[in-house]
Amino acid sequence: MSAATDYHFSHGACDIMVLSDGYLAASASFVAQDAPPEELQKALAGSDAPASMVYLKKNIPLIRQGEDLVLFDVGAGKKYQASEGLLLGNLRASGVDPASITKVVLTHAHPDHLWGMLDPSNKLIYPNAAYYVGASEWNFWMAPDVALQLPQDFRGVVPETQQDLEAIKERVTFVRAGDEIADGIRVISTPGHTPGHLSFELDGGSGLIITADAITHEIISFEHPTWRNGFDFDSEIAIQTRKALLDRAFTDGIKLLGFHFPYPGTGYSGAANGAFDEHLNSAEIIALFVSSDFLASNYCYVKEMERAMERQAQKEAEVVPIIVRPCDWRDAPFASLQVTPPDAIPVTKWPDRDEAWTEVVKSLRIKVMDVLKRVKSELEQELKMPTEPPEETLRRLQEADAAETEVIYRRIQLQAKVQERIVKEIEDKIDLIVVLNQPRTRLKASELWDKYIRQ
Ligand SMILES: [Zn+2]
Repeated sequence: MSAATDYHFSHGACDIMVLSDGYLAASASFVAQDAPPEELQKALAGSDAPASMVYLKKNIPLIRQGEDLVLFDVGAGKKYQASEGLLLGNLRASGVDPASITKVVLTHAHPDHLWGMLDPSNKLIYPNAAYYVGASEWNFWMAPDVALQLPQDFRGVVPETQQDLEAIKERVTFVRAGDEIADGIRVISTPGHTPGHLSFELDGGSGLIITADAITHEIISFEHPTWRNGFDFDSEIAIQTRKALLDRAFTDGIKLLGFHFPYPGTGYSGAANGAFDEHLNSAEIIALFVSSDFLASNYCYVKEMERAMERQAQKEAEVVPIIVRPCDWRDAPFASLQVTPPDAIPVTKWPDRDEAWTEVVKSLRIKVMDVLKRVKSELEQELKMPTEPPEETLRRLQEADAAETEVIYRRIQLQAKVQERIVKEIEDKIDLIVVLNQPRTRLKASELWDKYIRQ
């Protein structure tokens, strides 16, 4: 397992560092209780855990925001599984004194998130922090009869959990949806995994949602959000929460930071709930736009690309892979849609799925040049004038006399028309799927043009 621990990024006014607390091993059939065994095996093929197991990685965000240093959960300490409990060491290795943490926010009170609260002499590891937890989470775990509400196998966790919560009693603030932890960091309610499970939304860009177990596993929760997770306290509510969160993150293009995804846990929600199914099933030409710095930030990409290829194999659709390099815009649209051989795609992230991704990309044949050449020649014929790069036109213009200038202006007008027609052609014929290291967006060709190409 990677012990990487120094991933930093900034989001809005926040400087975010993701610290690893190790990982938690669980049986795959426990976190995917309704899964037909073959389907589960297929979904997890190539994952980093041994067959029939899942490794739930532990990503703990630490956010610096103004005067605040906010830690989200405290990990498991050395009290749960032996593969956990790396947080404190990683925090110190990053030069952060636990005493400097000003706020500790708890997503929920499960051992893997809470049991790193106390040191061996039962003192708070983060002695100067204010603590934040959902009121319903607190009330649930602190109820004298909580054990009776838990499945038999879980009852053993109650004493340590209550001890940890008891230890912050004087410092705790109960929060609920909409409350702010710090400027631009808001609580969202994501119940089901536990009664008071919380996630957090950060302002800035298209937004960022930090979640723990509303979306637990990087494959299962995305591809099969309706499979019941044995760790969920109320499966029905957990499934509704999961689907709603995936939908919202997808629709609004919100970045996700998941506690249990592969380090550092950042990525985007894809079409987990079939948001693209209708589109994929009806498109006649599917354009797969792949940025040259593509990060395999969502496993659904591979699944949907396979689906597109399947439809092509059945001659129901034509798949046009296009590698978009936004900086390459130079002249006519054809030149802007740079095509890179699939072999050249750097696939750098989440290596467990790289192979599948690379295979799919390799199997795509680059047809975009044919499509674009055809459009270009049709339009050139129709307009009876060859296109040329704008800098060429500009050069001519500089050297032209008055009579020629007139002609060149006509040419410029025609080129604008060509461009307009190409956009229309694309818009009419190609259903666009943009696959970038950004949320997938179905864009109209004109929007695509503005957003990714004309830069
Ligand atoms: Zn968890």
